Amino acid sequence: MTGLGWSKLVLLVLVGTALAPRAGADRETPPGRDPKQPVDEAYTERIHKYTTEPYFTSPLVDYLPASKTVPTPQAVLGDVAGAPGILPYAEDVYRYMRLLEKATPRVKVFSIGKTEEGREMIAVAVSSEENLKNLEENRARLAKLADPRAIKLDDAEADKLVGEVVPIYYITGTIHSPETGAPTALMELAYRLAVDESPYIKEIRDGTITLITPVVEVDGRDRMVDVYKWHLAHPKQFYPWLVYWGKYVAHDNNRDAMGVTLRLTENVLHTYVGWKAQVLHDLHESVPYLYDNTIGDEPYNAWIDPILADEWQVIGWNNVAAMTKFGMPGVFAHGDFDTWSPGYLMFIAALHNGISRLYETFGNGGADTEERTLQPEQYARTWYRQNPPLPKVLWSQRDNNNYEETGLLTSLHFFTENKQRFLKNFYLKAKRSTMKPSEEGPAAYVLPADDPRPALQAELLQVLERQAVEISRATSAFSVTLPAKKPKEPAKEKDRKEEKSPPPAPTTREFPAGSYIIRMDQPYSRIADALLDHQYWSPDDPQKTPYDDTGWTFGELYHVQVARVTDSKVLDVPMDRVREVHARGGVKGEGTLFAIANRAEPALATLRYKLHDASIEAAEEPFESAGKKFNRGSFLVRNRSRGDLDRAAAELGVQVTALTAPPEVKTHPVRAARIALVHTWLSTQTEGWWRLALDKLGIPYDYLSTQAIAKISDLNGKYDVILFPPVGYNAGVDAVVNGIPTAWGNPLPWKNTPETPNLVGKNDATDDLRPGLGWDGVAHLQEFVERGGVLLTAMDTSSLALSLGFADGVSTQNANKMKIVGSVVEMRLVDDASPIAYGYEEKGAAYCDNGPILSLSSIAGQRGRRRLGPEMRARPTGRGSLDDPDFAVGRPGMEAPEERKSEIWESPPVSDEQKRNGFRVIPPPRRPRVIFRYADSKDLLVSGLIEGGDEIAQHPAVVDAPSGKGHVVLFSINPVYRGETWGTYAMVLNAILNFDSLNAGRKDAAE
Ligand SMILES: [Zn+2]
Repeated sequence: MTGLGWSKLVLLVLVGTALAPRAGADRETPPGRDPKQPVDEAYTERIHKYTTEPYFTSPLVDYLPASKTVPTPQAVLGDVAGAPGILPYAEDVYRYMRLLEKATPRVKVFSIGKTEEGREMIAVAVSSEENLKNLEENRARLAKLADPRAIKLDDAEADKLVGEVVPIYYITGTIHSPETGAPTALMELAYRLAVDESPYIKEIRDGTITLITPVVEVDGRDRMVDVYKWHLAHPKQFYPWLVYWGKYVAHDNNRDAMGVTLRLTENVLHTYVGWKAQVLHDLHESVPYLYDNTIGDEPYNAWIDPILADEWQVIGWNNVAAMTKFGMPGVFAHGDFDTWSPGYLMFIAALHNGISRLYETFGNGGADTEERTLQPEQYARTWYRQNPPLPKVLWSQRDNNNYEETGLLTSLHFFTENKQRFLKNFYLKAKRSTMKPSEEGPAAYVLPADDPRPALQAELLQVLERQAVEISRATSAFSVTLPAKKPKEPAKEKDRKEEKSPPPAPTTREFPAGSYIIRMDQPYSRIADALLDHQYWSPDDPQKTPYDDTGWTFGELYHVQVARVTDSKVLDVPMDRVREVHARGGVKGEGTLFAIANRAEPALATLRYKLHDASIEAAEEPFESAGKKFNRGSFLVRNRSRGDLDRAAAELGVQVTALTAPPEVKTHPVRAARIALVHTWLSTQTEGWWRLALDKLGIPYDYLSTQAIAKISDLNGKYDVILFPPVGYNAGVDAVVNGIPTAWGNPLPWKNTPETPNLVGKNDATDDLRPGLGWDGVAHLQEFVERGGVLLTAMDTSSLALSLGFADGVSTQNANKMKIVGSVVEMRLVDDASPIAYGYEEKGAAYCDNGPILSLSSIAGQRGRRRLGPEMRARPTGRGSLDDPDFAVGRPGMEAPEERKSEIWESPPVSDEQKRNGFRVIPPPRRPRVIFRYADSKDLLVSGLIEGGDEIAQHPAVVDAPSGKGHVVLFSINPVYRGETWGTYAMVLNAILNFDSLNAGRKDAAE
């Protein structure tokens, strides 16, 4: 207690009292109906009827207050919310919300954007009439808390605002389309919040603005309702699984909050940030009965404000406590969800100074009432689940809605009761984000103006723009001090002692004028920091099952330079705010021949397809012209007017140099290949990201199912390149070739019918989802390659191609202990003369998720070995040492011929013995060619988790395997993933553009 004066102590006590929660236990407003308000008897009766057990409900939702003017959900549904057999389309949900808006001044509906297929997304605000009348004034006040620079970081001013503003609690429903309960729960929730006069609900209505997006994945919702209607119409049959959700991806729509590439993410982000909401609460369904993921398990995301970590605990456990008191079983928090990755939709709030929340409730994937039997681990009592779910129950959609609404209402009430605390925290988090340079660092991230990849740099900056991050641009050159690089620790004690060199000194780095500066003294600094920083997940972490990716560093994945600057002088550099980032492009110089340096920017492929009648060639060697150096793979464009080219290049941020004379360099044509992209009917999740990338780049392709491949006998007549992106779930020969058994059951159609008008959308259709590629399809693909086509595979489809024997001399090995869970790894360029490598440097990062581990062999049919580091040289016991050979007694010694060495990524040399009658020896021109390999074990990790990485270190990462007249291009990495891996897109695009010249620069072994 020394040093703490008496007066200070008093002050502390006083402050402590002032900060204590306003509502003490004795003043808690009891949940439940207001006896003076009449109840809608018929509606209430059906709530009871559809609730399968008395303990699957609560005093908050076991009745519905009556209103003479406001319609209940029955007006649209024809029954109560959660009634069996009823799943409304999004437009029905919207119709109801707009009926509410018409009937009461306590509801307002806002359109927040469109989906990829053109459907509307909405946000519904529910609050008191007065609060909704003052929305704009309230927003202006909230904006000052959200950006404390507006009030000069003045805490007293903030406290005043905290006392005046109405906070915003944003709820989002059914982002995952097979999780169907939220829309009806949210319809009824909106009604209750608008109509119920019980003190408990009135407090929420007066104290908070509840904002609701009842359907996040609108395209997928409509498909799901179709599937459910099909099921109702064919009650005795199996029904199709939801093979498409949104246009592009399925479950991964909830992994897009980093790249913000899907419309639904962008629309929710804009709504969240635009309204200055305090909470984003996303509703899901999986585990019984209500798992509040808010708290989660470790490791926590390293970039969140610790204030948020506290809020998670407070809100999450309160939620459990409130529902425990209602006697509702199966409500818990903590669980097995770690909050490391910021890819989830709810994380928009976590890294924009709000509070992220997520529920998993129990659902039947439709509105059937069904008997559900749980696994022992699901009904076991644990320390964090004191009242666990029951082993076997009859479960209804109404039960689901009861849980969802009860959880939300208790949350809204607790939030409202403590709104001053949460608003103050909202301000404090924003203030601490703004003070990041001085309090914790870094001061800024700098993206230099001389980055050789300006178009990719712009793509990365546009991600930050979508994240509402402020971007500035230096108006003059500047330099900053970079901290000294720590030396890699000396391995041995001896080395350490001998080391006499002085500690490394800090260095300075110059940045040219026009460099982009992401200042960390801004309210949304944390999201920028989280995306641009590096991740490290320790192999010793107690969490052994990461919930999602462990690394994502955007600068690395985009192959764009990003400097993390701790020197706060960077903030004094003269700079302007940038409103819209666009890479500068266009034609410079004089001449009618045009050259474009190749820096592996995807925009080059866009340009090739845009200028479809231009003649474009790629230089097979570096050259100099017009005083400029052009690297291997640079484009030479002819037959296009300067004006056309200038316009296209300016739009794409591609820099073009006009040349007066053609350079003397070997070239080959760069063609706009005819592309097919293959999908299975098992899952379209992972390939969806490939479609998204191609669509964004304006590269046309035909979208074909494996079933379609089986029916096209002359694939070469239609296509030059077939892309077969990863399927997911390690789908092997059995799943992809055989599909789902058709020997029993009924066909599972995926096509538009009067019952299912929304299923197909802009994607693909089939009469039966079950058949796979089939052996006809396998034969067609093989023939395609034999006759000169290029088949490009990645991860599990690479393994598939190898299992099917498509590529001689390449094999896959199973990992023993290796664990690379969605990490950023380092690759090395092996063959810079391959067109697939055009524009790439010696080192580059890529996304890897456990391989596969590829190995080469020059012997057909032989599996390459997985090799770990330099192999031990074996010798038998005898005289001498490892280097000094043994002898044989009684005869002269004979020196063994020297063994030829090879690198781990190479094929071991063909031995003399293998050459004897060597009909299995693959002739050199037919041997696979390694383009990229994984880095050495010590350099492999860029970001995330790598355990046992030596199993894959140095092994091939991208292989070009000749086959017949064509090629199979095999990726062990995933080059096109979640809109995050822009740096590796060009590996795929290079293979496409150079499809008929992939052998360029090939150096064959002598024998
Ligand atoms: Zn979900």
